[in-house]
Amino acid sequence: MPQLARRIGRAKPSAIMQVAEKAKRLKAEGRDIISFSIGVPNFLPGEHVYAAAREALDKDSGQYGSNRGADALLDAFIAHMAEIGLTGYTRANCATGVGAKHLIYNLAEALLDEGDGFAFPTPYWTSYLDVGEIVNADIQLLPCPPERDYKLTPAQLDAALAKKPRVFLFNNPSNPTGMVYTRDEIAALADVIVKYPETWIITDDIYNRMVFDGVGYHNFLHARPELRDRVIFLDSLSKTYGMPGWRLGLMAGPEEVAQAVTTLNSNHITNVPEIVGAAGVAALSGPQDVPQQKCAEFQAKRDQVMAVLAEIPGVVCPRPQGAFYVFPDVSVAFGKSHGGKPIANDIDLCSALLEAKGVACVPGSAFGEPRALRISYTCPTPQLAPGLQRIREFFAELA
Ligand code: PMP
Repeated sequence: MPQLARRIGRAKPSAIMQVAEKAKRLKAEGRDIISFSIGVPNFLPGEHVYAAAREALDKDSGQYGSNRGADALLDAFIAHMAEIGLTGYTRANCATGVGAKHLIYNLAEALLDEGDGFAFPTPYWTSYLDVGEIVNADIQLLPCPPERDYKLTPAQLDAALAKKPRVFLFNNPSNPTGMVYTRDEIAALADVIVKYPETWIITDDIYNRMVFDGVGYHNFLHARPELRDRVIFLDSLSKTYGMPGWRLGLMAGPEEVAQAVTTLNSNHITNVPEIVGAAGVAALSGPQDVPQQKCAEFQAKRDQVMAVLAEIPGVVCPRPQGAFYVFPDVSVAFGKSHGGKPIANDIDLCSALLEAKGVACVPGSAFGEPRALRISYTCPTPQLAPGLQRIREFFAELA
């Protein structure tokens, strides 16, 4: 067989999908499985979104659409950003993609040549690493351990940006930790960023509407509007509106960057399907009761998860204030065993938890933090308490 390209050897299959597949297989075998693994929102968009898609389907001519995104969609996104205080964008600043994941890949292609520095905090969302590997960037991980609430400090950012990476990628609220940076923390990081004009800043803030406890969502642009010429803001319909499979991501930034992404779109996908775009307009500009209600529900579920984790001796968990993930440090279990099975690391732990208790979580090493595991609490509410109970039992049974 002829050889595959080297970049494929560098990309790894998603660890999250591997856990989800194993859970699915056990379920098919008749096991009672509770999945805290994949980050899919367990709700549907409002009826107005379906109505808009149906109407678009009736009108659809089946022609190609705009490489950048339909005007109505870009306008709805611009208005949506204004609601969170990101103002002054025109259509020329914006572009769309087949999910934020696709936009991240497009941005990596648009901004990073081989060997260019690509810095981002650890724990990171898994695809950052793979995308960086595919484009052969020089990946610079900035460790943010649980002892520091998984947050990046200004001193750490200063040291990283002094190495002049081409791109710094920042994710707030965070997947996998659920941490949210406060206004002051963002301002302190923005003060560092202004000193290093050669670095592009991508803010992957797709969970910006899922923030709890009234802490609010803050972007470097709020603190330092002059960063507009190099901050790229990413959003997505997947999580906020319960539309992961519709595949619609949105970006806003400097015109040159939006144009580069549009050019890549013209070669990769041509356009986001216009029916999806029409549904996106309805989601972004229609009633917001579904995302608002879900955010309140997630906050209550966060409390429920944290209450149970607090009862497990040795498990340490910074309190998340957004998204729908909790990322406890479970290293207290390492070196012990469960039902005779040794637990040396996060992978053994997740595997034993799934086999013994039927609870699927994702090992922290998938996100660059092998002391932790990720609990995604989007499951139906009635499953949450029993799933947490099983985790508590599992830890109590460690020998
Ligand atoms: N960024 C983060 C932080 C995510 O958690 C995800 C989805 N899990 C994405 C980007 C990709 O989202 P999309 O479905 O829009 O591709």
